[in-house]
This record gives sequence, C-alpha cells and structure tokens, in this order.
Amino acid sequence: MNALNFINGVFVDATDGQTLTNLNPATGQTIGTIARSKDSDVEEAVKAAASAQEAWSSLDMLERATWLDRLADGLEARKEELAHRESRDTGKPLALARRVDAQRSIDNFRFFADFARNQEPEVFEMRDATNFVHRNPVGTVGLITPWNLPLYLLSWKVAPALLMGNTVVAKPSELTPLTANLMCEVASEIGLPSGVLNVVHGYGPEVGQAILDHPSIRAISFTGGTATGRHVAASAAPMFKKLSLELGGKNATIILDDADLDVAVNGALRAGFTNGGQVCLCGSRILVHASIAEKFTSKLIQLVDEMICGSPEDESTQIGALISQEHMEKVESYIQLGIEEGGNVLTGGTREMTGQVGPSPEGAFLRPTVIDGLQHTSRTATEEIFGPVVTIHRFESDEEAIEIANSTEYGLAGSIWSNDTDRAHKIAQKIQTGIVWVNTWLHRDLRTPFGGVKNSGLGREGGAWSLGFFSEPLNVCIKHD
Ligand code: NAP
Repeated sequence: MNALNFINGVFVDATDGQTLTNLNPATGQTIGTIARSKDSDVEEAVKAAASAQEAWSSLDMLERATWLDRLADGLEARKEELAHRESRDTGKPLALARRVDAQRSIDNFRFFADFARNQEPEVFEMRDATNFVHRNPVGTVGLITPWNLPLYLLSWKVAPALLMGNTVVAKPSELTPLTANLMCEVASEIGLPSGVLNVVHGYGPEVGQAILDHPSIRAISFTGGTATGRHVAASAAPMFKKLSLELGGKNATIILDDADLDVAVNGALRAGFTNGGQVCLCGSRILVHASIAEKFTSKLIQLVDEMICGSPEDESTQIGALISQEHMEKVESYIQLGIEEGGNVLTGGTREMTGQVGPSPEGAFLRPTVIDGLQHTSRTATEEIFGPVVTIHRFESDEEAIEIANSTEYGLAGSIWSNDTDRAHKIAQKIQTGIVWVNTWLHRDLRTPFGGVKNSGLGREGGAWSLGFFSEPLNVCIKHD
C-alpha cells in the first residue's frame, strides 16, 4: 500500500517522483512506498489551501461541525481498517490500535463537532457599549505529528483547525503515513471541499522544514520530541507564527504509603508500558514510598513478567513491536546506560518474546524492563527513553516525592496513587507539570487543557484551548446611542 500526497483533493506522487520505503516494524517487511516530498510539494499544498480558504471560512461554524461529523462517520465505517493500518505502520497490538487509536481518532472529530454546538456567543456589556468577540480563522495552518499515536494525534489538530475555518497542510511522521491517508480517502469520499485538507508526506527536515518556513502558513501545531520542538520554535518564532508545542515527557508515577497496592501496581504497569512505553504521558519513573517499596516492586515484577509481548495480530498481545530497529537500539542503549550508572535490571532488557503467535525475528521487539537502584538524578532516570523501560525510586516523605518528581527538565504529566485524595490533591498542585491523575492514568476529558510546562511544551490543546489556538479573536466594540 503506497502513501501518496493528498493535495487539492487529489492523491498525487511527489513532484519529482521520489519515494521512501515504509516498513512494518513487527516483521521488518515492506508495506509500500511513501511520497518523499520537498518544498515544491508543500508549495502546491499551500496554494490549494489558500484557494480553499475563503469559501471554507465563510461557512457557518455549525456547517463545518457537520463536516467533522461526516469525517467521523466515514472513519467509523472504516474503523477496523484504520486499526489494521495503524498496527501495521507502528507494530502496536491490533487490539490496542482498535481500542485507543481508531476510537480516539473518530472521537476527536465528534468531540469538536459537539463542542462547537455548545459554544455561547462572547459578549461583554459596558455601561455605554457592547463588545462582541468574533473568532476568525488564522488562515492556512501547518500540523506536524509523530509516529506513536499517528491519527489520534493528527485528528486532534485537524478537527479544531477545520472547525475554526482554517485550511490545513499536514505532515505525519514518515514512519506512519497510512492512517493520515485513510482520513484523506474519507475526506474525498464525503466530498470535503478540495484544498481544505492537504497531507504532504516525507522527512521532517525536508517537508516539515518547508512547512515551518512557508510565509503563508500562519500557525504551526507541532507534536514531537523536545529537540525537534526547539528547532521548530527557532524556525517559526522569527516569522511570528502562532506556535503550539506538545513535546516529550519523563513522567512520575507516585505511590503513597496509603495506596491500595493492587490498584497502584496495575496503574503503574499500565502507565509504564502502554504502547510499549511509547506514549508521551507514560509514567517512566515510579516513585514509591520506602515502607511499601519491597512489596510493590515484587508485585510489579510479577505482573511485568506475565505481560504477553508478541505478534501485534495476536489478540492477547499487550506489547507489540517498537517503532523501528533504530529506536529499539536506542532504548537498549539506555538500558546499558542504566547498568553503567549503577542500576539493577530486575526484569526485561532482552529481545526474548512470548505470546500464542510467535513474533517475527525481524521485528523490533523488546521485553518490558524494570530498573531499580538508580539515583533519581541519573541520565537514565531523567532523559526520555520512550520505550518499555521504567525506573524505581524510593522516597520517605511527600516533600521528597515532590522534589524527585520535579527533578527533570520535563513537565508533561504524572499520576499519584493514594487512598487519601485530599493529600494526593495537595501533592498534585506542587508537581511542575500539565496534568496529574489521581488513582487513574490517561483518563481524558477532551474539554480539559492538555500540554506541558518546562521542556515539555508551550501552550495547551483541548476544548476551548484548541479553538483559541486555531483562531484569532476580533473584538468589535459598539458604542450605544
Ligand atoms: P520527532 O522526531 O520530534 O518528530 C515529530 C515530527 O516532526 C515528525 O513528523 C518529524 O518528521 C517532524 N520533524 C522532524 N524534524 C523536523 C524539522 N526539522 N522540521 C519540521 N518537522 C520535523 O518525534 P518522534 O520521534 O516522531 O515522536 C516521539 C516524541 O514525540 C517523543 O519525544 C514524545 O514524547 C513526543 N510526543 C509528545 C506528545 C505530546 O502531546 N506532548 C505526544 C506524542 C509524542 P519525521 O518523522 O519525518 O522525522
């Protein structure tokens, strides 16, 4: 299956005909080719987006909300195919792709359509005048997304961008192009006006850079690594583009001494290893009260050892392949670093797999890994690994837990596990981060702000925050007679 660009409502090759190879990381086999686009392709996409802009933005927001519903319906009708494409591109378990990626991609469109219907006019009365706030589109916006939750994250940006009357030029990760194209197929099937949604495939430093540099693209919403985000900011800021940056994380899972141990262990397991630890929100540092650390750790190891890690198509698989051989080697190098820094690998760290259907030996499979005994300031415990690796750290007091949680350059998310929700709530407010879950993890209400502090990003997305980012407020003040 080849991934072509989608420009002005038509699937096209890159202008110079160049392609990249798309591999399935679970088998090492070729899925197809991907258009390797350049500035000239981005130029075509921007032209199409600019031509479509006026007609699209002149629709009433509720009409655009109806288009989002149609996109959701179209994706829902092809949900199983969506999950299969996502699983093949990423190597993640099909069951996970169905439950999380496919469902959330559909939900993103439905959520923003419904959210639009619940908007109240923004009017501010003065004694002698009335202020009306109108939300104008920004124009053509650039959306750049990573490979870990491909359509889930892209649709999270496409839906509010279109809703607010913008036209889109998007670049998914070149490792995972297939579901962005499924969205474009749906757009074509439902007759979404040409040029409103454009997808240009290829490498970040080529296509992504062309999007950042294009003067007609007035806003950039980027999700990816912190190093790339720094580069994105440096490129876009001198042009005064609106910028939303959703970057990396090194999140703490804090287990207090009064936590329900079974609930906490299961929560830490889910937070640590969902999607093979390749979620920006994953709790890769487990901070556990010293008084329960031994019990907690032995239960955790038992559950980790029971995890089925194998072929993505096996419905019982909990951990599939990592995104690529290169990424697996990077994760392994961190496990080696952990050992050099004085850590004990309690379990994992090997490529040996389990499961009813044996995974391909060519696949990028790595067992979930738990490392104990590291300083919380070590590189292994402070740098983002983005794989199935967690480190365990002990604390004696709430203050110490807060100090350890805040001791990285990141500040994206975290979770606290305790039977005393007031105590947990107080601790949560002292964690330098964007989200803290108490006795749960990745429990999302799409109306709430999503984003990070410190090196985890800039700005927030979600509900009103997304509508704010993808629009320019215009205040009209009318003096009374
Ligand atoms: P990445 O390497 O930063 O890539 C993200 C996107 O940026 C990809 O589409 C990439 O294209 C593109 N890109 C690379 N260089 C570029 C350039 N010079 N100009 C413009 N675009 C460029 O990140 P990743 O490895 O795909 O994803 C993993 C990272 O994303 C992790 O750090 C994770 O924490 C983070 N993440 C954050 C969130 C969040 O919401 N905070 C959510 C998910 C993931 P190529 O793929 O072609 O290089």
